[in-house]
Amino acid sequence: MNLQKLSDVSGKAETIALYYQVLFEHLGPQNWWPARTPFEVIVGAILTQNTSWTNVERAIANLRRKRLLTPLALERVPFARLASLIRSSGYFRQKAKKLKAFVRFLRAEYSGSLARMFETPTLELREKLLAVHGVGPETADSILLYAGHKEVFVVDSYTKRIFSRHGFVPDDVPYEELRSKIEAALPRDVSRYNEFHALLVQVGKNWCRPRDPRCAECPLHPFLPRASSEKALGDVP
Ligand code: SF4
Repeated sequence: MNLQKLSDVSGKAETIALYYQVLFEHLGPQNWWPARTPFEVIVGAILTQNTSWTNVERAIANLRRKRLLTPLALERVPFARLASLIRSSGYFRQKAKKLKAFVRFLRAEYSGSLARMFETPTLELREKLLAVHGVGPETADSILLYAGHKEVFVVDSYTKRIFSRHGFVPDDVPYEELRSKIEAALPRDVSRYNEFHALLVQVGKNWCRPRDPRCAECPLHPFLPRASSEKALGDVP
C-alpha cells in the first residue's frame, strides 16, 4: 500500500492491523514482559504504576536478592521492610499495600496458587482482579496478558496518545472503549496482543512524546491523517 493511501484510510479500525504489521517490520519482536516468572510480572505490573521501568527494575532486583519474589514470601515479609525494599519505585508505601493486598487476595481466593488463579475464566478473573486494592484496568490486563497469557489487550497512556492523534478516538476515550476497539481490529491472539502493546510503548517512548512528537522519523508517520501535523498536534497526556 502506498503512503498516500495509508493516510487516506487512517482513523479507520481496519488499519489498526496495518499499524501492527508496520511496527513489527520496523522494530521487530520486543520479547515482553521482561520478567523471570508470572509472579514477577504481577509484581512489576503493580510497581510500574506512575513510574519508569528503570525504577521498577531496582525494586525488583532488591526483592530478588532477598528471595521475596514469591507470593508466600511477600505475605510473610513485614510491611515496613517491603516498603523499604521497593522505595525506588516511588509511592512505595502505597505500592507495598497493593502488593500485600494482591497476595492476600491470592491466598483467600486461590490458596496462594497463581496456577489456580489463571484457571478462572478470563472475564470472571478480570472482575475479581479489578476488585483488589490498587489494581486498575491497565494493571489487571497486564496481569492477564503477560502473566496469564490470556487474550486481553493492554491499553496505556501511549496507546491513547497515539490513537487519539491518529483520529481513532478522542483524547479522553474511556479505557474499555479503546481496548474493545483494538481487540476487535486484531485477530484474537495472545502473541499479537503481547507484541502490539510492547511496540506501541516503543513508539510512545521514542517518537510520540506528549510535546513535540517526532512524526517525521516515526514508523507510523505514513498513517498520520493529512489534517494533522506535528505542529498541529497539541499536548496530549
Ligand atoms: S509521533 Fe507522530 S506519526 Fe508517530 S505516532 Fe505520534 S502522532 Fe503518529
